[in-house]
Amino acid sequence: MSNEIPYKIYLDESEMPTAWYNLRSDMKIKPAPLLNPGTGQPLTAEELTPIFCEELVQQELDETTPFIEIPAEIREFYKMYRPSPLVRAYCLEKKLDTPAKIYYKFEGNNTSGSHKLNSAIAQAYYAKKQGLKGVTTETGAGQWGTALSMACSYFDLDCKVFMVKVSYEQKPFRREVMRTYGATVTPSPSETTEVGKKILAEHPGTTGSLGCAISEAVEVATKNPGYRYVLGSVLNQVLLHQSVIGLETKAALDKYGIKPDMIIGCAGGGSNLGGLIAPFMGEKLRGEADYRIIAVEPASCPSFTRGTYAYDFCDTGMICPLAKMYTLGSSFIPSANHAGGLRFHGMSSTLSQLYHDGYMEATSVEQTSVFEAAEQFARVEGILPAPESSHAIRVAIDEALKCKETGEEKTIVFGLTGTGYFDLVAYEKFNNGEMSDQIPTDEEIAASIAKLPQI
Ligand SMILES: *Cc1c(COP(=O)(O)O)cnc(C)c1O
Repeated sequence: MSNEIPYKIYLDESEMPTAWYNLRSDMKIKPAPLLNPGTGQPLTAEELTPIFCEELVQQELDETTPFIEIPAEIREFYKMYRPSPLVRAYCLEKKLDTPAKIYYKFEGNNTSGSHKLNSAIAQAYYAKKQGLKGVTTETGAGQWGTALSMACSYFDLDCKVFMVKVSYEQKPFRREVMRTYGATVTPSPSETTEVGKKILAEHPGTTGSLGCAISEAVEVATKNPGYRYVLGSVLNQVLLHQSVIGLETKAALDKYGIKPDMIIGCAGGGSNLGGLIAPFMGEKLRGEADYRIIAVEPASCPSFTRGTYAYDFCDTGMICPLAKMYTLGSSFIPSANHAGGLRFHGMSSTLSQLYHDGYMEATSVEQTSVFEAAEQFARVEGILPAPESSHAIRVAIDEALKCKETGEEKTIVFGLTGTGYFDLVAYEKFNNGEMSDQIPTDEEIAASIAKLPQI
């Protein structure tokens, strides 16, 4: 029976989605709005347009339109690397000796090596359409910056990337990919911005965080005419663009009449997970189907599982809008020892609301067990997974092993968000047995939570 399903379920180009799905349209309780940090009032389109591209502001604020057409130019670009395959992990199932059926949606088939290109190309397109000169952004491990530099070079836009210092130093190869695509890359915090100087004065020797880098990128975008800021995760618009992952996954599963029992994804800011689960969560919200949906985060940066649901800044510099989300506090900086990505202190406000309302679960995993899962996966499935993606692999394997105990033939779908070729310093640590887990104490988390803005 099971052999009727191919190793890879591909869609034809003609079966690719022509519209993104806006999950918020089906939410009865909408995610809380972004607030102006000065007034404490919901941000209006007028207030957002100095920071973000106009059309992206519309998408950000739109919580009612279910489907938003994917412009033809973006679909053309998508065709260079999409549809991405949905792979049946036959080899992993065999190795685990599990009755579970495991599928993964592989987003690593492009030069940036991750799903981030799905939103980068959309954001670059709207910036170009608006006649802008360029965009600024932050990047952590470097995947978003790489994706954005590819998208900007395609549309001939200038691209200024602030890269978290620890990654800038540990991941020189990504930095050079970005520069090859024409981007300017600055380690953050830097002396090139007011906020960077302030952070460096307060925390000399800091290895940086995504939050710092965001503050710097926003400052540069707002001070330079013809520039806007773009963000690779967390925002509603990014989840919207990433819905292409879930729509393709659902179309591929539907081709073979497969109904997943659980959908698993790693969660940093929540964009791949929000995109992967979108159409499934839509069915769940409309009462048409039920799925277990599991977010996996690192034990060293556990926003869902140990964070607080509150309004917080998206950046360390506290200049960005306030978002209501599960957060560890914008001053939280994960241990430099943590190599697995997913370092953002907060979480998408859409996913936060869904988690708060009981529509999804979350779990956290330690990085050594994540790399063990990565190794196990690589050895049988062939793909060298990104550490971020390997959080989802860890939980997919654990769930498949539970099925082995109970004899249940559950269908598991997980998001394999990218490849790990640029994460070999982390793999080296793991291979040398030098990897350890540093989990924040309750006191550390409480200390940054105590600094949440009072709303
Ligand atoms: C950025 C990234 C993630 C995490 O970001 P989300 O917005 O939570 O999806 C996961 N996997 C890879 C490979 C990434 O590059």
